[in-house]
Amino acid sequence: MTTWSNWSGCETADCTVLRPSSTAGIAEAVTAAAAQGRRVRPVGSGHSFSGIARPEELQLSLERHDRLRALDTGTGLVTVEAGMPLYRLNALLAQAGLALPSLGDIDRQTVAGALATGTHGTGARFGPISTQVRAMELVLADGSVLRCSPTENPDVFEFARVHLGALGVVSTVTLQTVPAFALHAQEISVPLSEVLARFDEQAREIDHFEFYWFPHTDRVQTRYKTRVPLEPGLAPLGRFRAWWDDELLANDVFRAVIATGRRIPATVMPLNRIAVRLWGSRSYTDRSERVFVSSRRVRFKEMEYAIPRAALPEAMGRVRDLVEKSGWRIGFPVEIRVGAPDDIPLSLSSGRESAYIAVHVAARSPHDAYFGAVERVMADYQGRPHWGKLHGLDCEGLRRVYPLLDEFAALRDRLDPEGRFGNAYLDRVLGAGPEGRSRGAR
Ligand SMILES: Cc1cc2nc3c(=O)[nH]c(=O)nc-3n(C[C@H](O)[C@H](O)[C@H](O)COP(=O)(O)OP(=O)(O)OC[C@H]3O[C@@H](n4cnc5c(N)ncnc54)[C@H](O)[C@@H]3O)c2cc1C
Repeated sequence: MTTWSNWSGCETADCTVLRPSSTAGIAEAVTAAAAQGRRVRPVGSGHSFSGIARPEELQLSLERHDRLRALDTGTGLVTVEAGMPLYRLNALLAQAGLALPSLGDIDRQTVAGALATGTHGTGARFGPISTQVRAMELVLADGSVLRCSPTENPDVFEFARVHLGALGVVSTVTLQTVPAFALHAQEISVPLSEVLARFDEQAREIDHFEFYWFPHTDRVQTRYKTRVPLEPGLAPLGRFRAWWDDELLANDVFRAVIATGRRIPATVMPLNRIAVRLWGSRSYTDRSERVFVSSRRVRFKEMEYAIPRAALPEAMGRVRDLVEKSGWRIGFPVEIRVGAPDDIPLSLSSGRESAYIAVHVAARSPHDAYFGAVERVMADYQGRPHWGKLHGLDCEGLRRVYPLLDEFAALRDRLDPEGRFGNAYLDRVLGAGPEGRSRGAR
């Protein structure tokens, strides 16, 4: 038995870990679990905050199923085994002159794990990583292998791109990449009212638009990234400046600030004001995968909601008022990003131009009051929670904002009638399914 814990430490479980290294090995592990009548939960890098990856009996890790299967520089199509972490995929693509068109804040997730929860970056013309999927191979609960794409089992493909780890074990993924590119980043501090007044215009005009609001201040830190060709030349941050800003200030100093704020809440407000000044301005140009991704060493818990983009200024104003009128002392910035509409049923940005609002607290701080109050505001805007982050909705609430949730659950029941891949989180968000219901009845 091993004790597993997710990145933030808010989910733990004792489980037996299976580590297959081939599609046949995955099928064997699933068939053996079925023969013993045990549940088996695939896991990626454990970077989800929610209990989505939490195993109950057996855990299936694909850390040995992480190789490159095919890379075609002509078409830009790459096929990898599903346990490959994004940082390795990015390195392989860079060597081949390719890149993913958009990435989130970090690159530690596995390919299958990132797709499962709809992992996204920011940009009004860019969808989650799942929008780049062109084909997948899944090992189903009966041990059979199913390939899906827009032309092969399209009914499964439609749903499998944001799959919650509920439909089967993803064995391989084919992604569409783009020619490698650079990003010019501009970071400055501006008043919150100014960024909200120009929100829609900037979200449309800046390729990758995001900002961080420091609670208890009227300032935000913007991070605007513009796509530029790799040639004629990059102008990355110097090594010292990169270490100073991204390691020392953003991690070591920030950790000390958060620890001080937890011990002495009265220091949070002045410390946030200092943090705004310390973060300062900078501008640089570097390879896309280096600019998209940051090092995150201070452990936290996060909730993120997607709402219609047009509603962001009003909703953000309400979140600010909520924080300022409460007695909470929030040391972590609120992060705002945007995303393009897509056609994936359980994607946060399915069918609508979206803005994302993410709230954070330190890993060991209580979050219920803050996250719960923000969640009630998000409900007024048909907010959809990120599947991999904390939220309080069950299938009743989720089906109001994800209109195809019941179709997803029906597909899950067809592909996994005994709930082999189930866990408590899936029971909550999808309903327990035929086997779960009969278990509950026993
Ligand atoms: C510091 C930090 C920064 C983050 N930044 C962002 C961000 O910028 N944008 C964003 O959208 N999210 C972000 N996230 C959330 C993260 O991207 C998602 O939670 C992602 O799903 C985690 O991937 P993982 O590989 O760790 O998967 P896990 O968390 O281990 O698992 C997630 C899901 O994938 C399933 N799964 C894993 N492998 C397989 C497989 N082979 N077959 C079937 N199912 C499988 C699991 O069962 C589970 O349902 C961040 C998280 C952290 C901790």
